[in-house]
Amino acid sequence: MRVLVAGGAGYIGSVVTTALLADGHEVTVLDDLSTGHADAVPDGATLAEVSLHDSAPVLAEVRPEAVLHFAAKSLVGASQQHPEEYWYANVGGSLALLESMRATGCRRIVFSSTAATYGEPETVPIREDAPTRPTNTYGASKLAVDHMLTSYAVAHGFAAVSLRYFNVAGAAYGLGERHATETHLIPLALQVAAGQRESLTIYGQDYPTPDGTCIRDYVHVGDLSDAHLLALPAPDEGEHRIYNLGNGTGFSVQQVVDAVREVTGHPVPVTIGERRAGDPAQLVAASDRIRTDLGWAPKHTDLVGIVRDAWDVQKDR
Ligand code: UDP
Repeated sequence: MRVLVAGGAGYIGSVVTTALLADGHEVTVLDDLSTGHADAVPDGATLAEVSLHDSAPVLAEVRPEAVLHFAAKSLVGASQQHPEEYWYANVGGSLALLESMRATGCRRIVFSSTAATYGEPETVPIREDAPTRPTNTYGASKLAVDHMLTSYAVAHGFAAVSLRYFNVAGAAYGLGERHATETHLIPLALQVAAGQRESLTIYGQDYPTPDGTCIRDYVHVGDLSDAHLLALPAPDEGEHRIYNLGNGTGFSVQQVVDAVREVTGHPVPVTIGERRAGDPAQLVAASDRIRTDLGWAPKHTDLVGIVRDAWDVQKDR
């Protein structure tokens, strides 16, 4: 299939681009390189260095049969300080992309949504029919695009899938997380192990969890990538499906630190800090829906293995 990957120079987009090429697809990456890296775009894919807002001529030329849409701003803290940037890039940019698709008759799309659309959960694990009450602008902007896709499916016959990622981690094809501003737990802990940072701050040890630290559902980027390839042909025109993507097992921040110590052999000094605003105690996915509908089954459920894959890429930088 001829596919366009918006945000294909980023962490997850570049892994999925590589998987699409391996599967025989013809891939154009559309990325403004605001946070992505040109050298993450694999050989074999064509890079159009353009923002979502200016995507129309690229789509008119490529005439993709499907779009995978990863391009977004994704820092929760920044989304609270500069909401206008998040509405403009994530919502305005997505609207422009959907209109570019409509203009060329392309109606198939897989969209990177997020667990942040749910906000503070009433029950864990979180199912797709849980209330969506995002607690930050990032989550709200992603939820707005989910709603956009529902209405485009109904009104314009789009065949859409929103994949709601939980905590994506690990590496595949030598591609790992590489952000100018790193806020995620596993890469930060690995930076300590690599000697790039003195210590890690654990944001709160007084949560109602067994060891007092927050619990998250870490899903391997390779498993996430598999889900995209399964989702791509799945919906009929007029249908918008929503699937959670997580392992269904939670690990605490302390367990992640222990795994990083085990993998790296580094003591990884920690200090206990204040809670980070907006952090729910537990976020764990119920992913039964995608397992049942598409036969998705994560292969990397072991936290130490996920951390090891991330370390193998990060230690060489
Ligand atoms: N966390 C932490 N110290 C850090 C970064 C993150 O204790 O330096 C915690 C954070 O409070 C959360 C978990 O690690 O409970 C995962 O955070 P991350 O930012 O990686 O992902 P999020 O769950 O926010 O999407």
